[in-house]
Amino acid sequence: MLHNFGSINLDHFYRVPHLVRPGETLASRDYRVGLGGKGANQSLAMARAGGRVRHWGRLGRQDAWARDLLARAGVEVEAIALVDEPSGHAIIQVDDRGENAIILFSGANHGTTEQDLDTHFAAASPGDWLLAQNECNALPRVMERAVEAGLNIAFNPAPMSDAVLGLPLAHCRLLFVNRGEAAWLAGLDEAAAPEALLDGLARRLPGGETVLTLGGDGAWYQCGDQRHFQPALPVTPRDTTGAGDTFIGYYLAALQQGRSVTDCLQRAATAAALGVQVAGAAESIPEATAVERALR
Ligand code: ATP
Repeated sequence: MLHNFGSINLDHFYRVPHLVRPGETLASRDYRVGLGGKGANQSLAMARAGGRVRHWGRLGRQDAWARDLLARAGVEVEAIALVDEPSGHAIIQVDDRGENAIILFSGANHGTTEQDLDTHFAAASPGDWLLAQNECNALPRVMERAVEAGLNIAFNPAPMSDAVLGLPLAHCRLLFVNRGEAAWLAGLDEAAAPEALLDGLARRLPGGETVLTLGGDGAWYQCGDQRHFQPALPVTPRDTTGAGDTFIGYYLAALQQGRSVTDCLQRAATAAALGVQVAGAAESIPEATAVERALR
């Protein structure tokens, strides 16, 4: 079983002629709300890939539909608490030129208590996986407790912040980073060559496995002296939002199914390539049948 200590956000999209100016009241031409948050997207991707994932999270009581949506996709949702707080959410304006401006409020994602963790960890067994991103509070405690409980930690330090540098990263078994996150951790420029980024990551995480994703330039796997490169599939991207989340969910499901590293990479890259051809984040995560077809 994989336990995902992950954010759940509601993304509110407004279509506006231009981004709101100071003091202005502007009518929106369109409105839609969708499920978002790196945590929720990664759980969704893992479930669509056929993996067993239990999501640990918090959501405002009025937004139970988001929990139902995850449940319908096959995510185990008993550990998503409905609370009397606003859900994590983003207010996203998109203008006619495609520019956007976003207000993000962590809301319930930042309300995890030690008591919540007692409940979550009581349902975990040694050898299970714990996945986390950087959108929830209590991350240092979650990692400490995961180590004590004998769980394997997979971590995606997104969105990156200085707080990540204070986490016990050496205890992570598997780290997923994109170019920006790798550069931050390795103390290098984003323009550094992949090999230099991998060398820098190896110095910071000598014992673990690292997957470095480079958008349309593919992905690298590294463990000790071993490195594998997975090219990105040649597709015309329409919207790359959530590509990393799709990649991570599919990779972890393949790992859970006992597949080899190269197989995990290939499935993850195939799923992400299908996803970038579709608009949206959660909506663009492909079903396993589509990925299987693309792999043939
Ligand atoms: P996000 O933050 O938007 O979720 P990310 O920055 O974490 O994404 P990326 O490194 O951009 O993740 O992409 C993850 C993987 O998705 C890549 O390694 C690749 O396999 C696939 N991918 C991304 N962009 C493209 C593209 N333009 N064409 C094909 N595959 C892509």
